Amino acid sequence: MLKINVHDIGVEWKQCSHCHCKAKENGHLATHKANVHNIGVQWKECAHCEYKTKETGSLNKHTTPRRPSESEQRGKDRGVT
Ligand SMILES: [Zn+2]
Ligand SMILES: [Zn+2]
Repeated sequence: MLKINVHDIGVEWKQCSHCHCKAKENGHLATHKANVHNIGVQWKECAHCEYKTKETGSLNKHTTPRRPSESEQRGKDRGVT
């Protein structure tokens, strides 16, 4: 049966060495350090400019060219059909 540590008894806390935060799992602490202290961050860098971000999703948003608005699109299509 899965043991759930509801009361955090016997938990080995991983203390962040940079602030007072602590986590139960090394993975969580790593995420915390990356988010809060920018430590061990795997930066996703834009190949075209100085932009960098921690999240792949943000980089995708940055690199994906914005689609022309719907009205523009319609204007372009006019006369084609
Ligand atoms: Zn911290
Ligand atoms: Zn860029």
